Amino acid sequence: MTVLTDCHTHRLDAIGALIAVSPHDFDPQPGLRYAVGYHPWHGVEQLTDADYALLEDCARHRQVLAIGETGMDRLRGPSLDIQGRAFVAHLRLAAMLGKPVVVHCVRTAQDILAERRHAGLNGVVMIVHGMRGNRHVARTLLDAGCYLSYGHAFNASAVAITPLDRLLIETDDDDVGISEVAARVGAALGLSLERVTEIASTNLAYCLGAK
Ligand SMILES: [Zn+2]
Repeated sequence: MTVLTDCHTHRLDAIGALIAVSPHDFDPQPGLRYAVGYHPWHGVEQLTDADYALLEDCARHRQVLAIGETGMDRLRGPSLDIQGRAFVAHLRLAAMLGKPVVVHCVRTAQDILAERRHAGLNGVVMIVHGMRGNRHVARTLLDAGCYLSYGHAFNASAVAITPLDRLLIETDDDDVGISEVAARVGAALGLSLERVTEIASTNLAYCLGAK
């Protein structure tokens, strides 16, 4: 199996990456690996039972290694209440299938943790993707057991306190390639691009395999 280094992208042809896709666009290609979920920006207020049934079908596919992206965004999308309900539905599915969740978290660190706790789903592994929060936010998420995935732009003080066994890297929608991201994160940590790539790949394999 291809080594996965890039924890999160929306590019549908990305090799070596976990490709996040809506169930409605899920069309698995040989050799690629996916996360499926309904993004909080895109119509989660209208999701029907049929949409959730489709999500579950896709989530069971053997090339789907995680659920997401899902999550909560204080700056965009429907009310946090509605986003929270969709998020919890994704968490329940993740718990049932034993897969981690790729989480979109914009100024909602406390909210996503509260939703998980109130749902009694603290055992679900969360990968907080596109991590841009400061070290206080990082500390809160790390204390709750989350993995933190960094892209091309991040807060260096957060990277600095992220244990090397919880560190992931990603390209998301950006033009900046994964090597460049590894180089930038490496510069913040005093590590080489190669070392960060190795660490991130090992962590991603563990996180996806350990379920
Ligand atoms: Zn994304």
